[in-house]
Amino acid sequence: MIIVSIVGPGIKDALAQIARSSRYADLFEFRLDLIAEPFMSQLFAAARKGVIATCRPEYEGGAFEGSEEDRLDILDTASFLGAQYVDIEFAAGGTFLQEFLRRKKNSRLIVSHHQFDNKVKSVAALYTRMRKTGADVLKFAYRADDASDMRHAIKFLQLARRENQKAIAIAMGEYGEASRVLYKKFGGWATFASVDGAIEAAPGQIPMREMKTLYRADKVSPKTKVFGVVGNPLKQSKGIYLHNPLFQRVKKDAVYCRLQAKNIAGFMKHIAPILNGFSVTIPHKQAMMKFLDRLDPTAKAIGAVNTVVRRRGRLIGTNTDASGALDAIESKMRVSGKMMLVLGAGGAARAIAYEAQRRGATVFLANRTERKAKQLARELAPRGLAVNFIANAKLGTQHFDIIANATSLGMTPHVNISPLPKSMLKKRVVFDAVYNPPMTKFLRDAKSVGAEVIPGTEMYINQAALQSALYVGKKPSIALMKKIINIS
Ligand code: NAP
Repeated sequence: MIIVSIVGPGIKDALAQIARSSRYADLFEFRLDLIAEPFMSQLFAAARKGVIATCRPEYEGGAFEGSEEDRLDILDTASFLGAQYVDIEFAAGGTFLQEFLRRKKNSRLIVSHHQFDNKVKSVAALYTRMRKTGADVLKFAYRADDASDMRHAIKFLQLARRENQKAIAIAMGEYGEASRVLYKKFGGWATFASVDGAIEAAPGQIPMREMKTLYRADKVSPKTKVFGVVGNPLKQSKGIYLHNPLFQRVKKDAVYCRLQAKNIAGFMKHIAPILNGFSVTIPHKQAMMKFLDRLDPTAKAIGAVNTVVRRRGRLIGTNTDASGALDAIESKMRVSGKMMLVLGAGGAARAIAYEAQRRGATVFLANRTERKAKQLARELAPRGLAVNFIANAKLGTQHFDIIANATSLGMTPHVNISPLPKSMLKKRVVFDAVYNPPMTKFLRDAKSVGAEVIPGTEMYINQAALQSALYVGKKPSIALMKKIINIS
């Protein structure tokens, strides 16, 4: 079940939120502490679905400032007016609970515990104490500071499932986002979603429309295969918008989530075991390698992993960035026998330079920090392969057929910078790994002097298509991928 929190603050706002959500919500939670004048009978009638009444006190992160006696009266009224569920904080104590249970009409009881840090001592002990209240539903929400913190929510749900106890467990904040999507994977009873991105009742809530149509969270089951992207930050990551629709197209019972992680060791210990595969992005592409059972030759040669798949229980790392970029470039010009300049010495430059020389180009590497380009050229050319270093001062003296920008120069928000002057781009094939924005200043300049240009979105789509092939066993068409993320 997907519960949408109605937060007001005005009664008109609350009614508008109900109207906007009724297509997707299975239950409405009315935050009676946040709605300024909560005319309950009007709100409950408008809901036309199950209702949870919540009046969160300040000591539990809510906004209700009155006495416990007043709060009890409000919840009692909600129950009298037909709220199917009433949420009472575990911290309110036994007396409050007993008094509510003595007075309650037909409402079922949700006992909730909120913690605004990730210092969860013992999930098992907490679960046992909450279970003793005899509540119909146990709800545990706490703040996650890393992806691995989601392990507490998973454990809470697993304990509840063993006893057929209805439970909700949420790791709040962006590091815990996947716990909201995967609740049914671990037997959870419900999850919370926001009306839209702008109105959230708790940090990290996902808009209900995404929850239902993109993630299809209510269709997830313990058998659903789980994929995702691990990186930090992940706000700009487009993977969820590509892989989830692709799973739907091929009718694969799978879901793809954002797994924002600072500590890769913790992620590998606590979260990777529930995953069937995952994409790896900045800053973990290199650090990931030492946690895997095997690296394929491309990942090994490049020294970076952007995709991990589980095969017979073993985690295998590969790199689809390299082919993704070169397939994009070769849609305009075969690189074999050509002179190619790669700007940059980071992960993207490493992948592009490796694959270009493997496909027969003579590659030159240049970088702001020249020492790094020299070092990379040395690392990539152990057997006399064609990767050379070129000093920035010498760039104008050498002819290149193909120029690839693999620095982050020109990326949003610094969109008016280009790594090379127009004079060097005339009639060349020019590729930019930067995909945000798709048409960078570098590409606009190149186009204006007659160059063939290839935006980073082409690389992005190609590498994601190769990942999808590994996740679902079949490569999707590039046209379909472009349609899904709306690029012509
Ligand atoms: P990275 O490892 O952090 O490397 C960044 C590179 O950019 C370094 O060579 C750095 O030079 C250079 N750089 C940064 N700021 C600069 C500046 N102001 N002037 C000159 N050089 C500058 O990053 P990465 O993973 O290689 O990614 C690079 C770009 O490729 C990013 O924009 C990323 O979004 C994009 N990318 C795209 C795709 C795709 O699918 N299209 C895939 C991967 C990456 P120093 O060594 O001197 O610091």
